[in-house]
Amino acid sequence: MIYYHYFLQCPNSHYIPVPPPILLETDGSPRKIPKENRKAAFVCPYRALVSAYSAQDIVRHQETGKESLFEANVCHLVAIQVECDGKNCEAPKVIHATQDAGKGTWNVRVAPKKWMFSDSARCGAGHKLHYEERSGLLLPAVVDLSLSFSVNS
Ligand SMILES: [Zn+2]
Ligand SMILES: [Zn+2]
Repeated sequence: MIYYHYFLQCPNSHYIPVPPPILLETDGSPRKIPKENRKAAFVCPYRALVSAYSAQDIVRHQETGKESLFEANVCHLVAIQVECDGKNCEAPKVIHATQDAGKGTWNVRVAPKKWMFSDSARCGAGHKLHYEERSGLLLPAVVDLSLSFSVNS
């Protein structure tokens, strides 16, 4: 049995595992979404760099006999509300990370307050994002990747 595993490649060339996109072409590759589609920020689990990615950045690997971490329900994707450098900014400030599905622990090897934010990680109004003590999980915590990239979410 062949399984598809989906990843984003961080600026340091690590593979960030992401859930299977819901919108697939008939050959199983992620459906191409128009260029003006917005980006979504993800934390790389290896060096905790938060960067923005678009749906076109998703790459697919084929594996025989091995489910992805998401299909095996080993981890899930969560959305985190963070802060931005703007004053009283109401724009969306959301980043994504993966958690252990059983324990709810971060798959990132670094504590959130030490996460690094690249220049591409910005709020909906264009301010740089950062993590503060009051930042936290959004509910519902488990998010659907296709919603993160969709224009209307
Ligand atoms: Zn990385
Ligand atoms: Zn802002």
